[in-house]
Parts: sequence; structure tokens; C-alpha cells
Amino acid sequence: MRLIKNYVDGQWIESKAKEFEDVYNPGDGEVIAKCPLSTRDETKEAIENAAETFKTWGKTSVLSRQKILFKLQQILVEHTDELARLITLENGKNFKEAKGEVGRGIENVEHAASIANLLMGDNLSTIATDVEVHNYKYPIGVIAGIAPFNFPMMVPFWMFPMAIACGNTVVMKPSEKTPILMQRVTELCEEAGLPKGVLNVVNGGVEVVNEFLENPQVAGISFVGSKNIGELVYRKGCQHDKRVQALAGAKNHTIILKDADIEDTVTKAIGGAFGSAGERCMAGSVILVEEEIADEFVEKFTKAAKELKVGDASKDDDVFLGPVIRKENQERTFRYIEKGIEEGASLILDGRKNIPEKGFFVGPTIFDNCKVGMKIWAEEIFAPFVSIIRVKSLKEAIEIAHQNEFANGSCIFTNNAAAIRYFRENIDAGMLGVNLGVPAPVAFFAFSGWKHSFYGDLHCNGKDSILFYTRRKVVTSQLKTGEFDK
Ligand code: NAD
Repeated sequence: MRLIKNYVDGQWIESKAKEFEDVYNPGDGEVIAKCPLSTRDETKEAIENAAETFKTWGKTSVLSRQKILFKLQQILVEHTDELARLITLENGKNFKEAKGEVGRGIENVEHAASIANLLMGDNLSTIATDVEVHNYKYPIGVIAGIAPFNFPMMVPFWMFPMAIACGNTVVMKPSEKTPILMQRVTELCEEAGLPKGVLNVVNGGVEVVNEFLENPQVAGISFVGSKNIGELVYRKGCQHDKRVQALAGAKNHTIILKDADIEDTVTKAIGGAFGSAGERCMAGSVILVEEEIADEFVEKFTKAAKELKVGDASKDDDVFLGPVIRKENQERTFRYIEKGIEEGASLILDGRKNIPEKGFFVGPTIFDNCKVGMKIWAEEIFAPFVSIIRVKSLKEAIEIAHQNEFANGSCIFTNNAAAIRYFRENIDAGMLGVNLGVPAPVAFFAFSGWKHSFYGDLHCNGKDSILFYTRRKVVTSQLKTGEFDK
């Protein structure tokens, strides 16, 4: 049995926690590790250490920081398969998806490794006579990172590579449900030559987060997780004068117009809805399909969903649909199936049936004839669960999407350029897909969720992340050149 350790000041430390959370392989329900729910004192110690290290790391040359990230990139590429296997083991997603996730994480290191270019400031040589202005970017201090279970690698990589590239030090708290990957990644960071104290890891839950929120030495918080916790972290962090970015939940609407290429749309909508067992903040969990093609789409989509191979991806690389993360998530999804039936939607594929006995499985679940206001349309279920609404027009589809409190992303399937433009100009959502099942985040662009899918100003990734992890000095200087004319 693996015991998860904390990592502070370059030392692997056994936590003094009294409480531990079981870490499961959700594919067979076996306990594979124990994760400590570390105390506030332990978290405080890690923060103090990170604050001390910041005094030197923040002044290290950009080129030496960049070199470590280049080295880390190489090491991660060499360990891709090993890391992907760990993700499959503790999260349940299939090996191909896990490898994709590792690739996305590595892209964030590649982005951060070009920090010398990204950190350059602006200047104006003549803002008044002999007066010039320069703008410089500086790190902000200790960053606390709080991650969810669904991307054990990609999400922490939205945080720590860019934070440390900018000269900050970091205390990461992975999800207590999937802490194994971050252990291995931290060992690889050590191997890449990251100095002690720059990246620290404290495992746990609420107590660790509470210390992050209240400790005056934490300058910024990057959070990714559910809506309620995101809102809480944002509000409380701001009350304690911290810079906070909180990426939260989702209920993404996929719009299918009557001219869409049905075969291609079905394949991509299947990936969007059931990939990673629907445990993706970009999952296409609501499908709005134009009435003219609804019967044909629903029939083909259901047929394709029935053919998906469900099982324990840690033991079979051909599995498409792995488990959800815990028994509670499985039971919660089953309650939503009962709710959908009560609400009067048509259950056309029931995820309670034909699933393995061991592990925490939900089969692909499809409800047709859903309506706005139903809980299965409104709430994030975070499982392989799709709610289909039949619509008369693109305009009606957009109006429906707007009534949902979330607005992380939205996709459209059509070959009509004017419809694509109308969608782009009118939909309230931050991540848009055109003829794609998932508008996945990439390191070089900000991840732009809207409404209750995001709390804060500056998003993660892209140029936003550099601004989030830095503060600026604007220097105005007068250097009288007249004497050289004499
Ligand atoms: P979660 O909110 O339960 O947990 C996220 C983090 O918050 C974890 O590290 C957890 O330990 C901590 N936490 C949980 N309860 C807490 C509390 N009461 N006080 C303080 N901290 C607490 O989320 P999850 O179930 O791990 O992840 C799934 C959620 O994350 C979904 O809602 C999904 O949409 C969202 N998500 C969003 C994005 C995005 O980019 N918007 C990306 C990935 C996941």
C-alpha cells in the first residue's frame, strides 16, 4: 500500500495527519494508496518555506529558470507512458486519453519554457522631452495551487510551470482522490534540477485549503474544481487580499444544425459526451439538435453509444469508457437517472445496465426530449450522461444555452458559415468549438470560461497566466540628452 507523502523544502515528509483518505483504482474498486489529510500547521510550514525560497528564486535569472523547464520537458516526454498509466490507475480514464492528458501537461511546460520572450515588458522612448517609460514584470510571491481529480496531470500543469517560470514559488495541493501522479511529477521535477523549496506539495483537503486562504504569506491562488468550492475559494481568498483565479463547473451545450455531416457529428459528439466518462469540464453534456434531423441523429448517436466498450481501463487498453471516480459519484448519477424519469424526459439508454460489478461504473446514459428547467438539463452531473433537447432553430438553441448558469464552452456542428458567425457572435461561453466535440484548452491561449464557470479576472494559460503570476513596475525616467548638443 502506497503512502502519499508531502514534499517541502526538497524533503519527502510523512504527514502528521490523523485522518487519511483511501485512494482507489476506480476501475476495480481496490484501495491503492492512503492520502493524508494534512493539518493546517503542516501547510503553514510549507508556505513559510516557499516564502523563504521566494527571496532567492524570485531573483534567479530568467534563463536559468527556463533551462530547468527545458530539462523537465525532456524528462516528461521520456516518462509519458509511465505517467499515463498512473493517470489511468487512479482516475480511470482510458490509456489513450491519459496519454493525451500528459501531452497537454507537457505543452504547458513548453509554453513556460519560453518565459524569456513572454516576460518582456513594454517601453516608450519619448513620452515627454527626454522622458522614457519602461514596464517590467516581477513575480508576486507564494502561489497556492488547488486541483480537482479529473485531470491529475493537466490541471496542476496549468499552474506550477508558469508560476515558477515567472519566479514565484508554489505550494500545490492535488486532489486527495488522485494524489499519486503529482508525487511522481515532483520526483521528475527534482530530477530536472528544480531547486528545493520552489515546488512544494501538501496533500489533503479542506484544512489545507483553509490555510491557503487565510495565510498572509500566500500571494495568489489558482483553483480548479466545482462551482460551489470555486465560489467559496474566490470570495474568501479575495477577502484575505489574495489574487485568485477559480475555474469552476460546467454544463456545455452542443448545437447540431440540420445541415451538419451526421456521421462525423455522431462520432465527435460521442467523444465529447462520453470521453473520460463525462468527467471533463468541457464535456458536451447537453445536445441541442434541430428537429428536422433529430430522429436520425438520436438513433445513430444511441447506436454508437451502445457499442462503446465499458470496463477497467487499467487492465485493458481497448476500453473506451472507464469508471467514474467514486461509488458516491456512481450513486449520485443513478439518482439523476431517476430524476430524469420523474421529470418526464425519455430515457433511451440507461447507464445503470450492462456495467461491470466491480468498480464504479456508469454506462452511457441518454435522455431525449429534455426541457429547460429540468434538473438533468440545469445541473452538472459529471458522468457519461447526455440530455438532448430538440430545437426549432439556432436562435432557440442559443437562448436555451443562455438560461443555464454555466458557460464554460459550447460547440456547433454545421457547414453554414453565416450560422458559425452568428453562433460565435451571440453565444455566451468562453471556449467555442466548430465541428469539434471538445474545444480543449491549449497552453498558449487563455482558458476562458464565463458566468459561473469562472471566478476572477485573469484566466489560466496563454498571456493571462503570465499576467496572473506577475505584478508590474512602470519606470518613468528623465535622462537629459541636451548636454551632448553643446
Ligand atoms: P471539487 O470542487 O470537489 O474539488 C476541487 C478541489 O477543492 C480539491 O483539491 C478538493 O480537495 C478541494 N475541496 C473540496 N471541497 C472543499 C471544501 N469544502 N473547502 C475547500 N476545498 C475543498 O472538484 P472535483 O470533484 O475534484 O472536480 C470536478 C469539478 O471540477 C467539476 O465541477 C468540473 O467541472 C470542475 N473542473 C473545472 C475545470 C475548468 O477548467 N473550469 C477543469 C477541470 C475540472
